[in-house]
Amino acid sequence: MNTRRGFLSRSGLALAASGSFAGVGARLSAKEASDGGAVPQKIIHLVADGMSMGTFTCADYLSQQVRGRGLVWAQLLNQKGVVNAMMNMRSLDSQVTDSSAASSSWGSGSRIANGAVNQLPDGRSLKTLYEVLGAAGWKRGLVTTTEITHATPAGFAASVAKRGMGEKIAEQYLERGVDVLLGGGRKHFDSSKRKDKKDLYADYKAKGYTVMHSKSDLEKAPLDKAWVGTFSDSHLPYTVDYINDAELQKKVPTLVEMTDRALEKLGRSQQFILQVEGGRVDHACHTCDAIGAFRDQIAFDEAVERCLKYQKQNPETLIIVTTDHGNGNPGLNGSGPGYSGSPILFAHLKEATASFSVMLDRMGKTPTTDQIRKVITEATGYKVPLSKVEALVPFFEKKGDPLYGLLNSVVAQLGQLMGNHWGIGWTANMHTADYVPLTAIGPGAEKFTGFIQNTDVFHHYLAFAGVDFKNPTVPLMVYNSGDGILSSDSLERIGEYQTAAIV
Ligand SMILES: [Zn+2]
Repeated sequence: MNTRRGFLSRSGLALAASGSFAGVGARLSAKEASDGGAVPQKIIHLVADGMSMGTFTCADYLSQQVRGRGLVWAQLLNQKGVVNAMMNMRSLDSQVTDSSAASSSWGSGSRIANGAVNQLPDGRSLKTLYEVLGAAGWKRGLVTTTEITHATPAGFAASVAKRGMGEKIAEQYLERGVDVLLGGGRKHFDSSKRKDKKDLYADYKAKGYTVMHSKSDLEKAPLDKAWVGTFSDSHLPYTVDYINDAELQKKVPTLVEMTDRALEKLGRSQQFILQVEGGRVDHACHTCDAIGAFRDQIAFDEAVERCLKYQKQNPETLIIVTTDHGNGNPGLNGSGPGYSGSPILFAHLKEATASFSVMLDRMGKTPTTDQIRKVITEATGYKVPLSKVEALVPFFEKKGDPLYGLLNSVVAQLGQLMGNHWGIGWTANMHTADYVPLTAIGPGAEKFTGFIQNTDVFHHYLAFAGVDFKNPTVPLMVYNSGDGILSSDSLERIGEYQTAAIV
């Protein structure tokens, strides 16, 4: 059992028990802490969750087709003063990180095991970025298209044993006074949905928060109050579904609309940090859904553009644009003579009107070949050959047997099937170990260059705030064959194990 006193003495911040980091002797001048470099007063940390480089590339091409211009993030790479890095996002226990270990590495400066949020395997909780910056007087915001308690936002502000503890995470946001919370996840706050029947909205209101449930609530939210806005029971809709549904558009704000309002509010303060997550890029890749992923990547890009506009007016702002890991590594494969088929297939993407998630709902649990064909044709224009639909049916009945075990699911097979129409191939529907791109612009950007570690981000952000603080770290966990943890037999089983839980 680790007491708070034990944690604080190990971290060398005993005086922090007073509840404030200001004046504890751990504060340096910001210039001193950042080695004399430029220091931002505002930080915007944008994450396209689960963005493989193929997602970036294809979204850029799709953006040219549907918006008449490429991704702002791609154009940004050529801009004067922009700094680029590759980042190793590995977690404590695997080269392949999950979102909670990834965000926790930024949020605590310590690598932790997949599945936890700012907690070491021995149960020690880590002090989060938002607690430390909050104590140093910074305002803090989280904006996402997932549940607001989901892994990536949680990694900046919460510390719990399991990422699925959304109800506890929602309580911690309140205890820790996060100033802006915008996303989905109503069920973690609502007394009729919470397991303990607690009315967390009432608790937020009692502490002066404005509680919002709709786009119009967000439009009129007072700037002088803290905000909690949950615009869906669970995650916000995929962009491809959203742009094809007028009702959703009336009720639910987009990522750029939430970002816009968050900047308007937080911008009233001298110092703030805002995390903006395009969280459903990752979810779409977990279902091998190319149009879901690329449309959400473009929606994320609109938020990037909004933040860059903010920075033009507020040059003391550092903007970081990155991702937390690859997912599925989709790519436009070369096909046809001289690869002439690729652009023809890729051009079909823009005609799709529904995510795989919606298509599967329309098909039902055990659909007939006719139902499958009808849904796919209506949503994508692809007239699927009957033989291919027949090959898909066993996966609905859990009787599929692909050569590569990780492809043993309806979504992985649907992704392969749609590859015939869109030209997009997938490795599987799981996270990948790829090093990720990071783009920085603004004061302090020069720190984010070359090949960096995920944990560096925390230390740079604290240095900008003039705070000298380190969380405890533990050595990387290394699994060797024969150590009894994973045998090659069990690895094969893992290869065949499909889970939606690891996102
Ligand atoms: Zn992620």
